[in-house]
Amino acid sequence: MMATTHAFTGLAVVAPLAYLAPEFALPLAVGAIAGGIFPDLDVAFEHRRTLHFPVYGGVAAIPAVVLAALSLSNVTVGLAAFAVAAWLHAVSDAFGAGPTIDPWRNPSDRAVYDHVRGRWIAPRRWVRYDGAPEDAVLAVGLAMPSLVIFDEYSTIQALAVAGVVVSLSYAAVRRRLVDWTSGWLE
Ligand SMILES: [Zn+2]
Repeated sequence: MMATTHAFTGLAVVAPLAYLAPEFALPLAVGAIAGGIFPDLDVAFEHRRTLHFPVYGGVAAIPAVVLAALSLSNVTVGLAAFAVAAWLHAVSDAFGAGPTIDPWRNPSDRAVYDHVRGRWIAPRRWVRYDGAPEDAVLAVGLAMPSLVIFDEYSTIQALAVAGVVVSLSYAAVRRRLVDWTSGWLE
């Protein structure tokens, strides 16, 4: 899935909380966006393994959420949003394809690494590849709650609108990217 889809997943999860507790809307949104994108920074290391924790991420998210609930502050709430969004990112990578530039031609059987069992989780391919039409639909759909609920935060809204534009543009050219990059990416 696209990085934007992951960011919008995090935003969609925190949006109801931001509605209920608008005083924490900003740390919720910032934490969710950062956590949604953060795991993919491991593209510079071992992608989908170094910063992707589909099991341990959940173990870490629980105390982060409990701490935020017990001790409400911008920092604890932001950290909890970050932890949950990063965990959901790692889990949902298993629902897509492996991280190759052309997964429809060169499928990978490695979706995301399970550090607990010490093996790779196989891709489910419910989203066939990042930037697939269903990925774009998912990104736009998941963006909707944040576009409505964060309407008083122009920066968050601008980021969300930019994310939608980037998602649709990327999806529009996704399959041609392979020819344009002519293999130097993989
Ligand atoms: Zn990822």
